[in-house]
Amino acid sequence: MSLHSASVTELLAGLGAKQFSAVELAEHFLKRIEAANPALNAFVTVTAERALADARRADDARAAGQAGPLNGIPLAHKDIFCTDGIRTACGSRMLDNFIAPYDATVVERLAAAGSVMLGKTNMDEFAMGSSNETSHYGPVRNPWDLRKVPGGSSGGSAATVAARLAPVATGTDTGGSIRQPAALVGVSGIKPTYGRVSRHGLIAFASSLDQAGVLATTAEDCALLLRTMAGFDPRDSTSIDAAVPDYLAELGAPLKGVRIGIVSEFFGQGLDSENGALVRAAIDQLGKLGATLVDVSCPNLPLSVPTYYVVAPAECSSNLSRFDGVRFGHRCKDPRDLLDLYQRSRGEGFGAEVKRRIMTGTYVLSAGYYDAYYLKAQKVRSLIAAEFRSAFGTVDILVGPTSPTTAFDIGAKIDDPITMYLNDIYTIGANLAGVPAMSVPCGFAGGLPVGLQLIGPHFGESRLLAAAHAYQRETDFHRRVPASYA
Ligand code: GLN
Repeated sequence: MSLHSASVTELLAGLGAKQFSAVELAEHFLKRIEAANPALNAFVTVTAERALADARRADDARAAGQAGPLNGIPLAHKDIFCTDGIRTACGSRMLDNFIAPYDATVVERLAAAGSVMLGKTNMDEFAMGSSNETSHYGPVRNPWDLRKVPGGSSGGSAATVAARLAPVATGTDTGGSIRQPAALVGVSGIKPTYGRVSRHGLIAFASSLDQAGVLATTAEDCALLLRTMAGFDPRDSTSIDAAVPDYLAELGAPLKGVRIGIVSEFFGQGLDSENGALVRAAIDQLGKLGATLVDVSCPNLPLSVPTYYVVAPAECSSNLSRFDGVRFGHRCKDPRDLLDLYQRSRGEGFGAEVKRRIMTGTYVLSAGYYDAYYLKAQKVRSLIAAEFRSAFGTVDILVGPTSPTTAFDIGAKIDDPITMYLNDIYTIGANLAGVPAMSVPCGFAGGLPVGLQLIGPHFGESRLLAAAHAYQRETDFHRRVPASYA
């Protein structure tokens, strides 16, 4: 097996057995990035020197008998996570010149475990998008077909793992940004429970929805990474102070007796029929593995897209007000006065989608419209959360497709926001309710990957990971690599 087709678990075994060193591993992936990135545009910053320094430190630690749990494992960070001394641009011209003065908690924890940072991955501007086309740094391309989008907003991380430019990458998910790109490029991705992983140092989009997670080739690797990333952080006021289970140890839990609810609203109009058939086949497979399948209805779930597009822009309009041309980020040339400084710095720094969200958000929060839009959306959000709660009274896991279609052409939806927003019709509900959810590859339609989504109750990550792992033991979709990157 080549180094890049190995999982993190396999690489750890190889490093432990001294089959190769962390430096050799880092060099292998850096070479692959150099060769593939011009076409894919998955990385916005490659930190080669830092990677080699991290790798040397990892090799020394291992030689001294002090190897961390991820010692020598190369990884890429979505460029939304602050990295000390390294540009953190969040896909935006606004932060093109921003060198973060500290590491995000996620970055810090993964580094402390011995991992090796290869670089920062491209993303939709401020994580607003479903196709990676809103990035100031240009679109990311899908390794399965370079004419297609990789999904978004963690499209750079997704393409990185799919093309095996790193065995694993971090991501964030506000309305589907880990799961949807994972589905569109054929990798595994998990968005944990809101509050499970610290948001400290993660550039805020919609704070009540944002959650950090991981993209990897296997559910097992997701478990491995999550174990290090998760846990209480006093620097994040919404971080939850609860013990982190050993996700890896719980991976072997059998599917027998697990009750799986098939969400009927996820199989209606809008779902591509070939995708639907593959997702149903995957669900049947879970049934064959011992799970009990039942039909479940969440009638308000179809309202999740309109609800999200009130709540998320409202929060983003508030969060992004800090980019004023004064404290950090882009500043316009020769401002006439303070107002001109604000207006031109923001006008030049933000792209069209971000401006659309700020304006929508400002509108729904304004006096006179607040009750009609923001308050109403919050009420519907509560209803959706209540529906999930009641569903989880009778089932352990909810399942359905991750995305209504496979990857679409670059340019196909970018001028039609409503069509673009509908990409997240199956993923947003989990963010509104704050519950964990993941996507795993479950087949190919027209040569492009399809994802199966699994949703769990709060803190139900272990069960999701175990179900996904059981499925991956019986299937090989997650092992397939696009021909040019094999
Ligand atoms: N596609 C959704 C949006 O554009 C979700 C993005 C995300 O999860 N960050 O807002």
